[in-house]
Amino acid sequence: MFTQNTMNTSNSNISATLALWYAQNKRDLPWRNINNPYLIWISEIILQQTRVNQGMNYYLRFIERFSTVSELAEADEDEVLKYWQGLGYYSRARNLHKAARMISTDFKGIFPDKHIDVLKLMGVGEYTAAAICSFAYNQPYAVVDGNVFRFLSRLFGIETAIDSSNGKKEFTTLAQKLLSKTNPGLHNQAIMEFGALQCVPISPNCDSCPLKSICKAFELNLVANLPIKTIKAKVTHRFFNYLFIEYQGYTYIQQRVSKDIWQNLYEFPLIESNRLLEIDELLEERDFKSLFEGIDRIEIIEKTNQKKHILSHRVIFSQFISIKISGKITELDKLIIIPIEEIDRYPVSRLMELYLEKLRLKN
Ligand code: SF4
Repeated sequence: MFTQNTMNTSNSNISATLALWYAQNKRDLPWRNINNPYLIWISEIILQQTRVNQGMNYYLRFIERFSTVSELAEADEDEVLKYWQGLGYYSRARNLHKAARMISTDFKGIFPDKHIDVLKLMGVGEYTAAAICSFAYNQPYAVVDGNVFRFLSRLFGIETAIDSSNGKKEFTTLAQKLLSKTNPGLHNQAIMEFGALQCVPISPNCDSCPLKSICKAFELNLVANLPIKTIKAKVTHRFFNYLFIEYQGYTYIQQRVSKDIWQNLYEFPLIESNRLLEIDELLEERDFKSLFEGIDRIEIIEKTNQKKHILSHRVIFSQFISIKISGKITELDKLIIIPIEEIDRYPVSRLMELYLEKLRLKN
């Protein structure tokens, strides 16, 4: 275990070592070497649950379309979600949009520069506020993301679980003590990059590490055991039977408005069940019958194979049933009727997008 004494004698050396390592090894990324808080904010939100490689194109497209806070604030939520399509965790996009509107109204369109105000923005927690304030304004707030947790846990041999409330406090205090007082922005960039590239989750190359002489995990052969996590996320299974309904070149979609996955995205009418349904079972479903009430002819064209779609805490088993009908659906409470070729205008989940891609290939 690390001791306070050990840390105090070496923390400025650690920071200097990280800065030197960073100068020699950092990746050239579009959100580096900028101090525009808006762009830093967008990049940090995208990178929260997305890998750098995947996030890069999204970031570039997003800031090209919404290059300022006011452009984002003035956009429709549907358009913002469309630019986010495929990235997952759509609450990030909804929160970005709400926060941009909040900046417009509460901060006169100017990105706040006080830590306490940045923390008020929707979707901005301690980590993101520290990143924005240190990268954009060089303010002394330590960032503690997954990479930093791992690195600190190993460097100081800390066995407190990183997902416990004690662990969060302990690592945040430690990161704050380690923070360079003269250049906190650079220090934060360096420690995150070090965790991302050098002190990687599996089999880090400790032999090439500039900190191996003081690394407790390396000394005690605990690298593979740290950091410690306790909580295993419970995974739930859901079963989605989607109905792609064709009527004279039109189809039907609905918006997912309830607080659930993919909130505010669009999708085909959905019958959720406790397992995927066979066609004869589907025809007997109450929701299916009420959807097509009064329609003379319902022709089942095709049922796709089951598809397993994995989200962070859920596995979605899905199938798409394509159906032709002889009359218009009259019960349009939640449904929107649109020309089939216009479906790409609407933001949809990756699962829907994959089906639409297949459909396009077939036609
Ligand atoms: S020696 Fe290994 S475990 Fe320790 S900080 Fe370096 S890369 Fe991480």
